[in-house]
Amino acid sequence: MHAATEDFIDAQAPAYTALSDRIWSFAELGYQEQNSAAAHIQYLRQAGFRITEGVAGIPTAFLAEAGSGGPVIGILGEFDALAQLSQESQALECRPSSEIMSGNGHGCGHHLLGTAAHLAAVGVKEFLERTGTPGTVRFYGCPAEEGGYGKTFMARDGLFDDLSAALTWHPGPITTVKNMSFLAVKQAYFRFTGVAAHAGSSPHLGRSALDALELMNIGVNFLREHMPTDARVHYAITDAGGLAPNVVQASAEALYMIRAPHNHEVDALYQRVLDIANGAALMSGCQVQVRFHSGCSNMVLNDPLNQLMYENLKRLGAPRYDSRDQAYASELVKTTKPEEHEALGRWLTAAWRDPKPLFDTVDEYDQRIVTPMHGSTDVGDVSWVTPTAQCMTACFAFGTSPHSWQWVTQGKTGIAHKGMLLAAKTLAATAIDLFQEPAHIEAARRHWIERRRGVAYQCPIPADVLPPPLRKAANR
Ligand SMILES: [Zn+2]
Repeated sequence: MHAATEDFIDAQAPAYTALSDRIWSFAELGYQEQNSAAAHIQYLRQAGFRITEGVAGIPTAFLAEAGSGGPVIGILGEFDALAQLSQESQALECRPSSEIMSGNGHGCGHHLLGTAAHLAAVGVKEFLERTGTPGTVRFYGCPAEEGGYGKTFMARDGLFDDLSAALTWHPGPITTVKNMSFLAVKQAYFRFTGVAAHAGSSPHLGRSALDALELMNIGVNFLREHMPTDARVHYAITDAGGLAPNVVQASAEALYMIRAPHNHEVDALYQRVLDIANGAALMSGCQVQVRFHSGCSNMVLNDPLNQLMYENLKRLGAPRYDSRDQAYASELVKTTKPEEHEALGRWLTAAWRDPKPLFDTVDEYDQRIVTPMHGSTDVGDVSWVTPTAQCMTACFAFGTSPHSWQWVTQGKTGIAHKGMLLAAKTLAATAIDLFQEPAHIEAARRHWIERRRGVAYQCPIPADVLPPPLRKAANR
């Protein structure tokens, strides 16, 4: 059934490997992915897709569509890099790359993520045309997954509303489908304003914004004992008020990130953090201004869709590595610590307990087990709007961690390319199953309705908050 599409994808592999390598070298940060988005669009246009650029008001967000009528299957792609992670390719030590001009690096493998999703969409288009199957495949060019939550802005604009289902994947150290739950999150800047004064001669005239900020942080640190176990609150001081201790700081700011397993828990926690900020302002005689930054939702897991994707992944089988892949992975793993292997081992079922540098089987999917990931992803917002599934394929040596130089250095290796190709085939095969067997879509939608328990999607980003690229323009 899928063989022709898989052969087609294999035939395209050299061109798409080159695309992925190019995006690796661009290493552009969230909302600045101009070259990466342009490269994707160029390929998609050549493949005959209809392109809509600059969706949701974001210059690097785009849609590419082929086919007509329903069902409409969305395939989600990302392409943003991480700051200051420039790293030489295929190295065995941390060393910035002379190839990467931006100074950044693809430490989360999003160059592979976007390219495999893109190639899957091309494969599905070819299938729809060859077989005369009715339906639409839509590739989503999603910017700024890393903390910018591009998909959440896109969901707020209704761009996923007409989908029958959405499919995506993430590169990793293992090959599997898991019920991975992620944390919902809200981020906001808290700016305190006080009164400057000579800290020695007239301290009584000053009102310290830095005091206010410190009181807020202390208040939040006392809150920790009384919040849901899996909730997280992080902060960064973005403005400490200056470098002079003898001037009472008139202004200070922190960026807060408030996370919890469910959207409603984040809302409640966010409110408590606001109360603490107001209390800190009152105690210090300062004012506080809250500027909402961004956020994303928790994941609505979809067992039927995950199961379907898993069956395709299992049928296709794990990547086959050659001696070169094995030799490099074995050496690279020596640069990691045993604790990193242990942390990754938590993801695994009993089927894979023998640590090898390359994960060469498909780890089993158990729909009863939810693997809690304490990060956040804007795929969560898509999952609230339409049934969504995602898989992971091994693109990196086991024991190497996301957001590390070791992931960047592996980004153009045979290991990464093999995982990328497997992901493209898995996504394409799953989409084709949905087009051919509408019962899969019905089952996924029934499950999705049950899982949401009557709660409608409410975008965590308020209607008046502009996407970050537009904010800069508005402030100019
Ligand atoms: Zn990622």
